[in-house]
Amino acid sequence: MTLNFNQSRFISYKQVRTWYANLVKPRKNEAPYRHIIQIGDPTLRATSEKVPTHLITSPEIKSVIDQMKLVFNKYKCVGLSAAQIGIPIQIFLMEFNKNHAKLFNKQEQKNMEMLHYPLKVVINPEIKILDYTKIIFPEACESIKGFYADVARYRSLNLKGFDENGNNFSENFNGWLARIIQHEIDHLNGITYTDVMDRKTFTCSCWNVINERGGRVELPYGPQ
Ligand SMILES: [Zn+2]
Repeated sequence: MTLNFNQSRFISYKQVRTWYANLVKPRKNEAPYRHIIQIGDPTLRATSEKVPTHLITSPEIKSVIDQMKLVFNKYKCVGLSAAQIGIPIQIFLMEFNKNHAKLFNKQEQKNMEMLHYPLKVVINPEIKILDYTKIIFPEACESIKGFYADVARYRSLNLKGFDENGNNFSENFNGWLARIIQHEIDHLNGITYTDVMDRKTFTCSCWNVINERGGRVELPYGPQ
C-alpha cells in the first residue's frame, strides 16, 4: 500500500530517455524483483502459499524478505506483499513512520486513526475482525500506479502470524494500521483494492496536472 494519492514528483524528459534506453536493452530480470509488479501481472491474482514453518528462518526466505525490505524502503511503502515483487508466498511488510504521517495534517491523522508503527515482517498471517464497523478512506497501491479510490475497511482486527525470527505473535490493530493489514492480506489472496473499491471514486492521481501540462506527464514505474 502506498500514500501516493497525489503524484507531485514527475520525471524529466532526460530521465524518460534513460528509462527508455534501459527498457530496450535486454537484461536478465527475475523474481524476486527490485521493482513492484503492476496489475495485469498474473502473480497479483495468485493465492499466496503459506511458508512452511520450518523454512521461516531459511536463507531462501531471508533473501526474499531482504529484497522486500529494499523495495519497501525505495518505494516508501506503508505495506508490501511478497507477491508484489513476484513471489506469491504469505509474507508482507508494514510500517507507518513520521515521514509517512507528514503527508497528512493533524486532523486527517486523527480522522484516519493513524499511529506510528515500526517496520514489521508478517509471515502466514491470520486475522480476526474485532469491530465490523466499516471506515471509508482513499487507498492507493504501488501495483496500480497513479490511481487511488475510496475503500471501506473494518475498523479493528486481531493479527496473528510469525515474525522473521520464527516467533509467533498476536496483536490488535485499529484504524489506519488495520487498513494496511487488510489491504496486504487481500494481496495474499489475489485481491487488489480495485476489486473492493467504490468504483465511482477511482481517480487518476495526476488528472489535474495532465490538464495543466497538455498531457505531457510521465509516471515512473521504478523506485525514485
Ligand atoms: Zn497494494
